[in-house]
Amino acid sequence: MKSQDIASRWLDFFAQKDHAPVPSASLVSPDPSLLFTIAGMVPFIPYFLGQETPPYQRAASVQKCIRTADIEEVGKTVRHGTFFQMCGNFSFGDYFKEQAIPFAWELLTTPQEQGGYGLDPERLWVTVYEEDDEAARIWREDVGVPAERIQRLGKADNYWNTGQPGPGGPCSEIFYDRGPAYGQDGGPAVDDTRYMEIWNLVFMQYQLSEVRTKEDFDVAGELANKNIDTGLGLERLAMVLQGVENMYETDQVRPVLDRAAALAGKEYTSTEDPADPHYADDVRLRMVADHVRSALMLITDGVVPGNEGGGYVLRRLIRRAVRAMRLMGVTDPVLPELLPVSRDAMQGTYPEVGRDFDRISRVAYNEEKAFLRTIAAGTARMDSAVTAAKSAAQSPGATAAGISGADAFELHDTYGFPIDLTLEMAQEAGVAVDEAGFRELMTEQRTRARQDAKSKKSGHVDSSAYRELQAGGDTVFTGYTEHTTASRI
Ligand code: ATP
Ligand code: MG
Ligand code: MG
Ligand code: MG
Repeated sequence: MKSQDIASRWLDFFAQKDHAPVPSASLVSPDPSLLFTIAGMVPFIPYFLGQETPPYQRAASVQKCIRTADIEEVGKTVRHGTFFQMCGNFSFGDYFKEQAIPFAWELLTTPQEQGGYGLDPERLWVTVYEEDDEAARIWREDVGVPAERIQRLGKADNYWNTGQPGPGGPCSEIFYDRGPAYGQDGGPAVDDTRYMEIWNLVFMQYQLSEVRTKEDFDVAGELANKNIDTGLGLERLAMVLQGVENMYETDQVRPVLDRAAALAGKEYTSTEDPADPHYADDVRLRMVADHVRSALMLITDGVVPGNEGGGYVLRRLIRRAVRAMRLMGVTDPVLPELLPVSRDAMQGTYPEVGRDFDRISRVAYNEEKAFLRTIAAGTARMDSAVTAAKSAAQSPGATAAGISGADAFELHDTYGFPIDLTLEMAQEAGVAVDEAGFRELMTEQRTRARQDAKSKKSGHVDSSAYRELQAGGDTVFTGYTEHTTASRI
């Protein structure tokens, strides 16, 4: 089943259950506390928090999402993309667990000829929050899942809250057993690689009066209006239904992977085994396919490359894709080859990608060109820093082996290498970086720039200092900021 069919089947199923179909919101989060839309529920936050009255009591959507917090997993696990689509069904004070659970089971296991996804029920496992006897009972008695495939987990895995006083509640998750070739027996509580999470059902049931950490909070009582928020990863289901090894091999992503492999003259082997000689290149190809698509979708939604916020995330995705291709020997621009392939894979679902492709591609190609110039200028300097670090490590009595803070600062200041590029390249070369030393120098420079600005009475900062501020240390924390916020939702 194609990704597009998975999406339409989702909306059709829930329409039959009286859910209003709601189009995907932008990847740029409608909620000001988040950089990007990281889950299907994000556009509905005001309804869940009781700040606005929803125009419907039941809704369903297939929401475009970006999770930069998962960027390091991409290509290494089978199931994490920076861009993905989350299918969701939502109840605003309407139905609760006793319907949400059977809906999920019905859709997953009804044969495809009858409108479902036709998964083999024997391959499905579920987890519930350890104290949620009600959910366990519904799975066991109403749905008929055997007790040995229902596992109870604690707050870390199966409890949702926003990190602040407000709604919270237990979750129940559905996992697909990929089979004994992929890991150990024993269910998702034992092995979440073999047993892949596909669907999270969140039961917003309680009012939390105080939230100290995700796992340490006080419950004030039951919510008057209980809500349902669910999220199923479209790519994860596509991977199962298309019989492929990972989400990068599904129909909307694979064509880019293949084109990248052809460009690099590499044979893609689907390996998940880090000991396999093909592993490094396979990971790179998966990453390229993911990042190119994410960049395409972000630019479509109006993000432009920059040094801050969402623009910085986009820049980083493009740079990582370009660098992965270089590490496989491709030094010519790659986006003119890859982006049109991603467009062709995505425009069936998102026609705006095709309509607006002139603009989108111009933004992407210019960013790649600028990056190639940066690399050309800084690579020799980087190499000499690496060589110096390596020989220092070998000299007798060496204490600190790594690229000095001063070198990292020079790479940044003179060559335009953002610190994370230096960190990544150093890691590939097997040397450390004195990041703390780098940050100290950045802070000093910023202080100087501020003093200069003050002493110039007019308050005018000359443009070079301004550029430095723009490219400054604050921006590299973007990922963490989003991560912190992401874990709230
Ligand atoms: P995981 O534990 O695998 O990282 P999660 O618990 O972080 O997933 P949720 O926040 O529960 O995921 O999101 C709901 C669903 O969205 C998941 O069950 C999964 O199917 C899908 N999903 C989450 N993150 C990603 C991702 N980075 N790429 C693809 N699908 C994802
Ligand atoms: Mg996750
Ligand atoms: Mg999870
Ligand atoms: Mg989850």
